[in-house]
Amino acid sequence: MHEVGIMQGILHRVFEVASADGADKVLAVHLQVGKMSGVEPEPLQFAFEALVRGTPAESAFLRVEWVPVACFCESCQREFEPDDWIFKCPICGEVSSVIKRGKELCLMAVEVED
Ligand SMILES: [Zn+2]
Repeated sequence: MHEVGIMQGILHRVFEVASADGADKVLAVHLQVGKMSGVEPEPLQFAFEALVRGTPAESAFLRVEWVPVACFCESCQREFEPDDWIFKCPICGEVSSVIKRGKELCLMAVEVED
């Protein structure tokens, strides 16, 4: 379950942000995760809950915004959201190899108690 390693990295940054703010309690962690990032919702939530135990983020909420995959068709010069894992342009039918969005995994915000 590689989500544990990913979440460890995220929480490391969460605690850095919290201590820079002088906060001793984290209320929520906001992430933006691409649907092609290889991270699954359930293991991610599970890893979060397991790793925050006994930390200042013990009762924090994990909020994840899932980013849909977006490709770019070079023939049509337009972006599209593929229906499946074959990134076929809905206009010209060409298979795109340019992925614009959907692979990200970003820590967007950390809410702390004042
Ligand atoms: Zn096209």
